[in-house]
Amino acid sequence: MPTAADVYSVGFMKSDIARNLLPDPFTDLLAQALNRLKMEFAALPATRSEGGMLSEDIPAMAAVLEETARRMGDNYPYFHPLYAGQMLKPPHPIARAAYAMASWLNPNNHALDGGRASSHMETEAVAEIASMFGWDEHLGHLTSGGTFANLEALWVAGQLAPGKTIIASEQAHYTHARISAVLKLPFQSIAADACGRMNLDALEEALGHGDVGTVVATTGTTALGAVDPLDKILELRSRYGFRLHVDAAYGGYFKLASNLDADATRAFAGIAEADSIVVDPHKHGLQPYGCGCVLFRDPQIGRFYKHDSPYTYFTSAELHLGEISLECSRAGASAVALWTTQRLLPLISGGEFAQGLEHSIQAARALFAKIESDRRFIPGPKPELDILVWAMKAPTMEESSRLSQQVFDRAAKQDLHLALVQLPVAFLRPATGPGCADWPDARDNAKVTCLRSVLMKPEHLAWVDEIWKRLDRAAA
Ligand SMILES: *Cc1c(COP(=O)(O)O)cnc(C)c1O
Repeated sequence: MPTAADVYSVGFMKSDIARNLLPDPFTDLLAQALNRLKMEFAALPATRSEGGMLSEDIPAMAAVLEETARRMGDNYPYFHPLYAGQMLKPPHPIARAAYAMASWLNPNNHALDGGRASSHMETEAVAEIASMFGWDEHLGHLTSGGTFANLEALWVAGQLAPGKTIIASEQAHYTHARISAVLKLPFQSIAADACGRMNLDALEEALGHGDVGTVVATTGTTALGAVDPLDKILELRSRYGFRLHVDAAYGGYFKLASNLDADATRAFAGIAEADSIVVDPHKHGLQPYGCGCVLFRDPQIGRFYKHDSPYTYFTSAELHLGEISLECSRAGASAVALWTTQRLLPLISGGEFAQGLEHSIQAARALFAKIESDRRFIPGPKPELDILVWAMKAPTMEESSRLSQQVFDRAAKQDLHLALVQLPVAFLRPATGPGCADWPDARDNAKVTCLRSVLMKPEHLAWVDEIWKRLDRAAA
């Protein structure tokens, strides 16, 4: 069952390695790279300790680290294809190696003084992401994650249109409402349709009331992977005029996939027309956590970031990243890992990275087809990306929710890790037999506990049959 692909994306998942019979190739990669980095500084006088360690007692450190490793065993196996629950994707081995190597130097991308090479790598890697979306020119940088990237995008939106309303679909990430509150901007939530996409009639009605500054479109919602109809939202922009922010924190990289359905293809083609975009390299970009990205189409918005910090030293006339970021210190290691990964796996259609995303879409469609044709399940919307949801068929909503919890627990006992999600019954397709259409306790907007699976790993496609086998047993 496991193929070469397991090694490619998981590093040391190969069953032999998992049983500790083979050395972890990641350790060798890291050791080699670290030695090369140390050679760059070989002319300096030797110091006893490398990083200014307080304790150089190696056996003591080994003992503590062993304790730490044991502690870490108390986790779901996120790296394994049988972990098919939440939005968690293992970083590529090269990203982990680059991050760990860079942390020996520990650059700070706030300013060039703190991380010259890593700042340049950030600028280059971010330009590659911008060009993936079709932008030759942009202003952008990495952030600690999607939430902070969205905060910056909406902060700029608020600077341009003070006091005007931010609009997002009710299926948009929950943080948009909170960010708007932090920024003291009015926020309005727009109904979603039965597929989890922004309802255009509801949007147009809200636009008709005026006072809308910014519309947030989500290309790949967190719960369902639904893609808001960006092409149609752009038509509305030409009539009503508003700032358009695209939250592609989760779905952005699917721009490179060639097997999106027609609706999603049209929506993704519209991303280039946005005023700002957020994408999370730590979601689908194979990066360790702590890596989001915000992009602005108009570099002139850099003026809003102007600050006069007495702590910022300038050793160069070049613009440094601290001047265009709300955060001060940021991990240079994140930029190094991202740059390195994109060097190995460029962001191009038809490339190996794009194929990995296409496999994820295929995996979700394959598992969905099995669920759809099985009478025990009520399918949710057809997956547009690599996320699928389904409910358990039962005479009542309450019973259906209980069964979902039971299947979730039983699957976990067989090492298949799914997720649970509360969803409005409107997302479940009318089914034959006792299903949501007949649930006596299903009032409008009632929420039912559903099962959810995010098939983010390229090797999930090869594991669909095994996942199904275990799900089948768990639901028996
Ligand atoms: C994950 C996600 C966010 C939040 O990003 P974090 O990196 O978790 O802070 C925002 N929007 C969408 C659509 C997401 O999927």
